[in-house]
Amino acid sequence: MPIHTEPTTVAGAHLQLRVIPRDAHTISRKDISPNALRVLYRLREGGFGAYLVGGAVRDLLVGGHPKDFDVATDATPEQVKALFRNCRLIGRRFRLAHVVYGREIIEVATFRANVDDGSGDRELHEGGRLLRDNVYGTIEDDAVRRDFTANALYYAIEDFSVRDYVGGYEDVSNRLMRLIGDPETRYREDPVRMLRAVRLAAKLGFGIETATAEPIARLAPLLAESAPARLFEESLKLFLSGHAVAGFIGLEQHGLLPALLPETAAALKSNRSGALRRMLLEGLESTDKRVAADEPVSPAFLFALLLWPAYCRALMSLQAGGMHAAEAERRAADRVTLHQLNTIALPRRFSLPMQEIWLLQSRFSQRQRKRVFRLLTHPRFRASFDFLVLRQSASPEHADDIAFWREAQTQSGEALAAHLDAHPASDADEGAPTKRRRRRRRRGPATSE
Ligand code: ATP
Ligand code: MG
Repeated sequence: MPIHTEPTTVAGAHLQLRVIPRDAHTISRKDISPNALRVLYRLREGGFGAYLVGGAVRDLLVGGHPKDFDVATDATPEQVKALFRNCRLIGRRFRLAHVVYGREIIEVATFRANVDDGSGDRELHEGGRLLRDNVYGTIEDDAVRRDFTANALYYAIEDFSVRDYVGGYEDVSNRLMRLIGDPETRYREDPVRMLRAVRLAAKLGFGIETATAEPIARLAPLLAESAPARLFEESLKLFLSGHAVAGFIGLEQHGLLPALLPETAAALKSNRSGALRRMLLEGLESTDKRVAADEPVSPAFLFALLLWPAYCRALMSLQAGGMHAAEAERRAADRVTLHQLNTIALPRRFSLPMQEIWLLQSRFSQRQRKRVFRLLTHPRFRASFDFLVLRQSASPEHADDIAFWREAQTQSGEALAAHLDAHPASDADEGAPTKRRRRRRRRGPATSE
């Protein structure tokens, strides 16, 4: 069957529908989650239009394995609910249907528009930011309110064709992220789209089309106005999905780093040797390897890494002011965490262990028997030790400590005790830590400075 096209007009834009028939594209039903197929067929039996849409279609076209499958339909959420026993409606601003199959949730969204129909249901913030968008619409409306052309492709269950209203099929073929509509307007509506451009390009190995890339560096400061909770979620997707190195380099190239991680960006800039950046990339590379090997990755470790340059810089300036090392470490950790919270809402369950990873670093040079055993049994020992190993890639000075602690982990308690008794800690080792033991009461990250 030949690819056919047909013109439509939506919100003043002229759209050209392009239908890519089943035998002209690579999406096969065997790559689609059986539950998503179940939902699509059931909607169709109910007399509704049913399409797979968004990231899943895009990922399938490039041969990827989507983690979630989103469905779009002309059925209202109530009509969807009436079709499925295992369906619950969520969302206040925009109602969505979740069809639940054990641990898998298929999200079913009614086509929605992004146009001001005069009902007052769409409001723009002064800066052009979109505050509410809860107007139902046609499939064409639904396509143009999406962010990138690659994300606006519809796989129709009725004939297994792909419907393309915005040129997304060609962009996917050319491996390009292109914003739908005027880039600046779309970024002002929702600055997180800048981050999504970089993240998806990194994940898919796509380029960012020139006009889509151009405004990013200029508009990057707008990111600071986005909800910190959303930026936290986006950051996790950016750095813990197996493409952290490419993502980080993308942030740098497009001028987004100062907007997302301001103090780290400043610290990297002033680190002439480039050692901190090398360490960061090394850490992100090992994160990517862990993801590829299906090994667990932790947000606490990730942020310890991302904010380490900022922490080092804060620590140096506090110590230059004459503050005692232990106190300076604690203050630097609190200060960096608190400042970063303005942009990224890092929950305490991650920021506390992140700070522990930093604060344990100075304890690896201490060798008194009691301290050695206390550190070995610390719940954050393993993460902190891995972090120390990573620091080695920036400066070789930790080789002795790494060798000692690597060995210590493999020894029995008695053997280690015997070793430590045979090699007592030097006076220099004894001095400073004793002072450190007069611990201050621990403060949370958000209480000081
Ligand atoms: P991922 O593979 O990371 O899940 P995705 O494209 O599926 O990528 P989601 O956040 O799951 O990203 O969003 C699903 C779809 O919703 C997108 O493909 C896009 O069509 C639309 N969308 C998401 N975020 C935006 C946004 N900020 N503006 C406009 N449309 C968006
Ligand atoms: Mg998705």
